[in-house]
Amino acid sequence: MIQRLTIIGVGLIGGSLAQALKSAAYVREVVGCGRNEQHLQKAVSLGVIDSYSMSIAEAVQGADMVVVAVPLGAMEACFSEMVGHLPDGVVVTDVGSAKASVVAAAEAVFGELPSGFVPAHPIAGTEKSGVESSFPDLFRQRRVIVTPLPGSSDSAVESVISMWRETGAQTEEMSIQHHDEVLAATSHLPHLLAFGLVDSLRNMDESEDIFRFAAGGFRDFTRIASSDPVMWRDICLSNREALLKVLQQYSSDLSQLTVLVSESDGVALEETFTSAKAARDRYANQLDGWKGSFPAE
Ligand code: NAP
Repeated sequence: MIQRLTIIGVGLIGGSLAQALKSAAYVREVVGCGRNEQHLQKAVSLGVIDSYSMSIAEAVQGADMVVVAVPLGAMEACFSEMVGHLPDGVVVTDVGSAKASVVAAAEAVFGELPSGFVPAHPIAGTEKSGVESSFPDLFRQRRVIVTPLPGSSDSAVESVISMWRETGAQTEEMSIQHHDEVLAATSHLPHLLAFGLVDSLRNMDESEDIFRFAAGGFRDFTRIASSDPVMWRDICLSNREALLKVLQQYSSDLSQLTVLVSESDGVALEETFTSAKAARDRYANQLDGWKGSFPAE
């Protein structure tokens, strides 16, 4: 059980984690930290955190677990404020959607990484942000990827895995590089495409009619374009190399589809769609506890 959990960034993910651990009675006390005091007061009034501090140095005092749940672009500044203030034996983890950039940020700040540092990433979310959108079941039957570093202590890795299992999630260990390549394809590329498609349609002459007559397919495909632009800017830049690789592959596949349409090649189009449908159906069938909506990530 965690005695004192400090959550830096009490938004959708940080707030949901706090609620899940409270529901499981796996934490005695939750301290929040952020930039905006009104958001933290809201988090207290919702019962998500017990108390808060506007100072990271103060918030981590006495903690046995610190979770950094801020946008990727803010990780380094948060780590900097911890230097010299982390209690002995504390476990530090994060929830960032790309992992190499978080480790680089921690290395830039700490030099040699503390053995209590274990990066992780819950593959769960929604297109909403902020503590008001957080809920305790967000991670239930979802996956959390834990990416231990060579210097991470076994006990710290165990603590992070145990914490996430208490939320109802399944945990999986993976290397940082593999995580970033897989997530570039399954999450970062689809978000970039959704934002790009909506922006492209918005710029077309008939955009008013396009949006007026858009139906369920458009809504399903573009839901994630309602996600937070700052968060997704940070993710695309933080995982730039891996994202560029899948983006180039996808651009080439899209050019191929353009050729098929321009040449009226119905046979090849049908083959492509049939293979895609089979893959999509297999995926949907495998999803545990799928209730008609997918996690944002
Ligand atoms: P969110 O709802 O916007 O929450 C982010 C929190 O961080 C806010 O409470 C904000 O509080 C605080 N914050 C923002 N900028 C900050 C800064 N510069 N310095 C300190 N605190 C700052 O976002 P989220 O969806 O929970 O995402 C948080 C992290 O989870 C990101 O790293 C993201 O990559 C990762 N993640 C997101 C999802 C998803 O689908 N949303 C899924 C998995 C992982 P104040 O405004 O009060 O400062």
